[in-house]
Amino acid sequence: MQLFDVAIVGGGPAGSNCAAFCAMAGLQSLVLDREKFPREKVCGDCLNPSCWSILERLDLAQRVRDLPHSKLRSVAFIAIDGREVIIDLPSGTNCEISVKRSLFDELLLNRARELGAHVREGTTVTALANSGNWEIETAIGESFSARTLIGADGRNSTVARLRSLLPQPTRERVALQAHIPLPRNFGRRVVLQFLPEGYSGQAPVNETELNLCLVGRPPTIPKLRQWAEHHFEIAAHQAWRTITPLTRSSVPCAHKNLLFIGDAARVVEPFTGEGIYYALRSGELAADAIAKISRGKDRQSVLRGFTRACDQMYRGRLWINRLARAAVLSPRIGSFFIQAAQFQPAILRLLTNKITR
Ligand SMILES: Cc1cc2nc3c(=O)[nH]c(=O)nc-3n(C[C@H](O)[C@H](O)[C@H](O)COP(=O)(O)OP(=O)(O)OC[C@H]3O[C@@H](n4cnc5c(N)ncnc54)[C@H](O)[C@@H]3O)c2cc1C
Repeated sequence: MQLFDVAIVGGGPAGSNCAAFCAMAGLQSLVLDREKFPREKVCGDCLNPSCWSILERLDLAQRVRDLPHSKLRSVAFIAIDGREVIIDLPSGTNCEISVKRSLFDELLLNRARELGAHVREGTTVTALANSGNWEIETAIGESFSARTLIGADGRNSTVARLRSLLPQPTRERVALQAHIPLPRNFGRRVVLQFLPEGYSGQAPVNETELNLCLVGRPPTIPKLRQWAEHHFEIAAHQAWRTITPLTRSSVPCAHKNLLFIGDAARVVEPFTGEGIYYALRSGELAADAIAKISRGKDRQSVLRGFTRACDQMYRGRLWINRLARAAVLSPRIGSFFIQAAQFQPAILRLLTNKITR
């Protein structure tokens, strides 16, 4: 059986990016994902401008720009009473865009393949054993071996669960997502709307479709759906994708020969739309760490450096995310904040600039 340098469970942005950078560094890399791509994903589909520099390093930025997408010009914060504050987003080539995850994730995974990573789709990891190297077993009884294992399998990480590292999920809230027909005159904006039962995010993803997300506690979901059906004139039989939890404690990102990246390591409130950036960047950092170890650098110090770099990535951003979480957990407080921002828009402008820097 082939012994891979690195096996990555999960081919989302974190896993694909990690595989691509590992392959570029000459490592024998394997990606296992339970889905067959292209596949959709519960997400707001917004790509934070910080992602562009990483996509440039992968030689992928132009190919992302060539995908059907929307260039987002502003973000509209809407309070429960309908009051609205509009903040402009950065313009230019490296602006915030929205692009369907089915397209974006498939492009990333194919880039990893192009660079030499082995990719197995439709392959669910179900068991792990460590005897120096990792033995990885799948639902259909295949097994793979690797020196290093990466958990890039999202917020409900099987790798973390199998290693007894997955924090107890607080299934406080659920997210629903659908692509619906783009309302006339919607404009090139992201809408973040507080509702009595939770919040909604909306962004056009191309000329004809709107990404619509709803977040609320389980008992409020029927009301949120009714609001969406009425507000966007969509049918009651509209199909929705769902995901939970919306937040949970983090998993330590570095273990002996096991690393966690993206949502598997840390889940952040989606309101600020940064998860894909964290996934891409942590994937790149993990690849760098594994390449250094494979070149003979001291494992312990490389892993300490990886942990520091991951902490650094969130530093200066996480407090805004926590602020957003406090606002969305109490939509009335969030709405009050928007009312205040009508007179002092500099507050929201500052926060938006920080998020999209
Ligand atoms: C409602 C909502 C809106 C959001 N909006 C935005 C936004 O607008 N912008 C933004 O940047 N972020 C947003 N996010 C966050 C973003 O979606 C995530 O941060 C991002 O998808 C994390 O990428 P990842 O690669 O870590 O994990 P994922 O994208 O979840 O990928 C994990 C992969 O692992 C695979 N997998 C899972 N288990 C197994 C297994 N046992 N075996 C094999 N494969 C497995 C899955 O099939 C999946 O492909 C949003 C999140 C939510 C919930």
